Amino acid sequence: MATPTTTTASSLIERYDGLFFDSFGVLVDGVDALPGAAELVSRMNGDDVNYFIVTNDASVSLESRVMTFAANGLDIPKERIINSGSLIAGYFSENDLQCAPTLVLGPQDVKDYTTAAGATLVNLGGDVEPDVVVLGHSGPHDWESTLEKLLTLFSRRFQEKHPVRLVLPNPDFIYPNGPGVFGFGAAAFVNLLEQAMKRLHGSHESLIAVKLGKPYSPIFTAAVERAGTNNVVMIGDQLETDITGANNAGIDSAVVTTGINRRSTPDEFEHVTDMLTPRYILASLV
Ligand SMILES: [Mg+2]
Repeated sequence: MATPTTTTASSLIERYDGLFFDSFGVLVDGVDALPGAAELVSRMNGDDVNYFIVTNDASVSLESRVMTFAANGLDIPKERIINSGSLIAGYFSENDLQCAPTLVLGPQDVKDYTTAAGATLVNLGGDVEPDVVVLGHSGPHDWESTLEKLLTLFSRRFQEKHPVRLVLPNPDFIYPNGPGVFGFGAAAFVNLLEQAMKRLHGSHESLIAVKLGKPYSPIFTAAVERAGTNNVVMIGDQLETDITGANNAGIDSAVVTTGINRRSTPDEFEHVTDMLTPRYILASLV
């Protein structure tokens, strides 16, 4: 079993050619910047450190995220933010989906990411059926009737051998929505559709949604490409997304204890699987 070692932000900056930071639980808590975050960002900007924010966010534009960071005292330019929403363009271009009739469920910013990818937006139940469905955010929808319509569409199109592609930019199943309050992410609804389609038609790759964000590979591939080096470390607070994703991508990882993860000593990782175990524990960003 791998055992993580404790380290500091300064030694990670020295040791690596690039640093990836998760946003929620690492730099911000949804209300304020976390201790040390503003100072660290300012120091990295001053020293021209090769750092990027790697976040599953898909429902907010990069410009809005820059403004939210700025309101928290974090001076992070949009060129340093790699989010799930901005991966939609790459997915559409790699799969020749420009101009594909696409249904987007989610707020305007997810629609903007998708039209920027070249897609033609259509409505559920409109004259033109979607070839792609981007499930960008969990709300607000009448989920029962929306899911039933999608299930009916997906099932028929699968039988017609022209399956609809389902794209999930942000694979977070649940999300924190204030102290002790939780909401269901879009992944929860995608999971219902996948389960239902499996019961109807069995296991087929075309019935599984394409997932772009952490822990899946597209966001790590994009981040490594942007950093221009493999010698990077992912700093995150969630073992299931940040750490597992980094391990799968073959890059090092460090877990902080300011977010969802509460394990703060190497001993506490004794019964954690290797895939969920980070290389480092970072007590704080200070
Ligand atoms: Mg997080």
